[in-house]
Amino acid sequence: MSATYNFCAGPAMLPAAVMQQAQAELLDWNGQGVSVMEVSHRSKEFIALTEQAEADLRELMSIPDNYHVLFMHGGGRGQFAAVVNNFLGNDGRALYLVDGSWSIAAAEEAIKLVGEQNVDVLNIVEKDNNISRVVVPNLSGIEQDYRYLHYCPNETVDGIEIFDELDSPWPIVADMSSNIMSRDIDVSRFGLIYAGAQKNIGPSGLSIVIVKDELLALPQLPQASIMDYRLAVKHDSMYNTPPTFAWYLAAEVFKWLKGKGGIAEMAKLNTQKAQALYQFIDSNDFYETRVAKANRSQMNVTFYLKDESLNEQFITQAKEAGLVALKGHRSVGGMRASIYNAMPIEGVEALVRFMRDFAEKIS
Ligand code: PMP
Repeated sequence: MSATYNFCAGPAMLPAAVMQQAQAELLDWNGQGVSVMEVSHRSKEFIALTEQAEADLRELMSIPDNYHVLFMHGGGRGQFAAVVNNFLGNDGRALYLVDGSWSIAAAEEAIKLVGEQNVDVLNIVEKDNNISRVVVPNLSGIEQDYRYLHYCPNETVDGIEIFDELDSPWPIVADMSSNIMSRDIDVSRFGLIYAGAQKNIGPSGLSIVIVKDELLALPQLPQASIMDYRLAVKHDSMYNTPPTFAWYLAAEVFKWLKGKGGIAEMAKLNTQKAQALYQFIDSNDFYETRVAKANRSQMNVTFYLKDESLNEQFITQAKEAGLVALKGHRSVGGMRASIYNAMPIEGVEALVRFMRDFAEKIS
């Protein structure tokens, strides 16, 4: 059977080497005769795993010492709420930049929790001839005392990525669910970074939070204890039973990334993969993208067949060729190829070959 390449946006494909390792030690982890799923999270073996995972993540992302690394429950949406409850208190306000579906959802959650009067929402996408482009206004010109600015540097559904670092007078909270560890970033420019694990980190059920310690002094709203950052820090992310299997797999992904030469090497590959796909899309009249060059996501390549009546045929034939989960999100239609760290260049090459053949057959 020829290879299957999984372009799902999340839960997404994991590195084959990590899955093979997990399979090999599924029933007997660490020579203990039991699975990693079956051991206490407080056992010394599991704690060693969590310490290594944190050390590896710190090394991979060059996380400064004045930042805490938390492994939490609740995915990306859990953090939409946690950020508000941990930082806004009774009278705090926040600014939400909107560049696609997930940043809208984050802003809506904030409004639900603290009301419209405490949440300012600023659209930063301009559409010209159906092409979306991010235009960030001069934030220093906004005279408001926000507790934080929230944005989503990679909009998974829309295929929009913001590569420039923001110049913000307020601490930046970034939802990096779909582009964490895809390229180097300067963590010290952020107040808090969060990510649901199920794209570039591991399976769902886990979210990673990287938070600057001074933000933990902000006033809090009453909230569920399991989403309380200070409790998570105090209890080394084990206030309650953590998602241990997801944590274990994340730890394996971090080791795999280090073995691949770290994020800088991964970034080169990611650029190569994305360029191969966008160059092909640009080179013909059969397909199109609707995102300006400067904001084309390296992780989620959204594209359309110019004749959309061929969509079903495209998806069916792609699946037959072993290229699965290419259907775009139902809210935007078209196609989406999610090409996270685990997607090898061969997968992108196979996709380009298929797209070329499909177009030639039809024309
Ligand atoms: N933010 C972004 C950028 C996402 O892509 C997603 C999920 N696709 C979420 C938040 C929500 O994550 P979850 O489903 O883990 O709550």
